[in-house]
Amino acid sequence: MDSRTEGGGFVYHAPNHQLYLGLIVSLDYQNPYLNPFGEFQKWKLHPKINNLLVGAERVSYGARAVNKGGLQSLPKLTFPGGLLVGCDAGFLNGAKIKGTHTAMKSGMLAAESIAQSFAEESPEAELVDYQKSVEESWIYKELHLARNFSPAQKKFGLYLGSVFIWLDQNIFKGRLPITLRVSEPDHAKLKEASKLIPIEYPKPDGTFTFDRSSSIYLSGVAHEEDQPCHLHLIDSEIPIQTNLPKYGEPARLYCPAGVYEVLESSDGSMRFQINAQNCIHCKTCDIKDPSQNIQWECPEGGGGPNYTDM
Ligand SMILES: Cc1cc2nc3c(=O)[nH]c(=O)nc-3n(C[C@H](O)[C@H](O)[C@H](O)COP(=O)(O)OP(=O)(O)OC[C@H]3O[C@@H](n4cnc5c(N)ncnc54)[C@H](O)[C@@H]3O)c2cc1C
Ligand code: SF4
Repeated sequence: MDSRTEGGGFVYHAPNHQLYLGLIVSLDYQNPYLNPFGEFQKWKLHPKINNLLVGAERVSYGARAVNKGGLQSLPKLTFPGGLLVGCDAGFLNGAKIKGTHTAMKSGMLAAESIAQSFAEESPEAELVDYQKSVEESWIYKELHLARNFSPAQKKFGLYLGSVFIWLDQNIFKGRLPITLRVSEPDHAKLKEASKLIPIEYPKPDGTFTFDRSSSIYLSGVAHEEDQPCHLHLIDSEIPIQTNLPKYGEPARLYCPAGVYEVLESSDGSMRFQINAQNCIHCKTCDIKDPSQNIQWECPEGGGGPNYTDM
């Protein structure tokens, strides 16, 4: 990836000679030609990774957006009839890329709030005490120490940002008396396609690198073909009228399941096609569409991805 794009790969060794490989691409990337799926395929060709894959078989595939904004991005945690816990709230510690511990702790705090409300004669519809108990817990303290991790790279860029993060996390242990904030949303970072050079990605070789269609098959996604489309366009004209000329309609590239296509109709005009049944629920389109025109809604049934080996 280019030096303006934050990201990184990981390899976990698992039992039964299995490997979990992944690549995180920060969604504040600027180049509309960037294809996170393509970057992942390219990354697997790096000799250090490629050597691990000789003789290996691909058994599963998936993708999701990691909400690593941290403390400054936390929403209000309660609403009438509901509480936000775990990654739904954004309790992942971006500095560690770990969130199972905060998910469990917030679940416990939520359960305590709910149990307490059951003991009351006329419980409130909104359990506002939960917000306070999270703020008084170690979740808040931990996220406070990691609060500058995500904004630093966005503000200072890859190299300066990395130096800042190293000093902030390793020397000052997150105790610097400043809190960095990012005001610009990720979707606003995209530059116009005419100002950037297209990125070439290697063609799938079927051994180390693959295409999206065969990969989605391994995600276990099984939506009913005739269910209502859960990917809503606020304005159906925007993909072709605005996004295509300005950004080359980047949904074709950022979607890791190839859900969005721009096709030529028989009369020569272009049309935007949504293959919603392939959606693996990563929510990238909701975040990255430069016109903020796509709304991801929960599809009916339980036909989403079924990650058996991940
Ligand atoms: C690549 C990667 C590596 C990570 N590595 C680590 C690590 O090493 N250590 C660590 O601590 N954390 C790690 N994390 C973070 C960790 O996975 C999350 O913080 C944690 O799983 C959050 O737990 P959760 O219960 O809030 O959400 P999730 O684990 O995401 O659980 C949500 C569940 O809800 C289900 N669901 C979604 N929609 C519906 C619906 N409509 N109906 C019914 N069910 C639904 C989903 O299928 C899912 O099972 C990693 C995350 C990623 C993406
Ligand atoms: S349609 Fe949206 S949510 Fe579904 S896989 Fe593509 S980018 Fe992710």
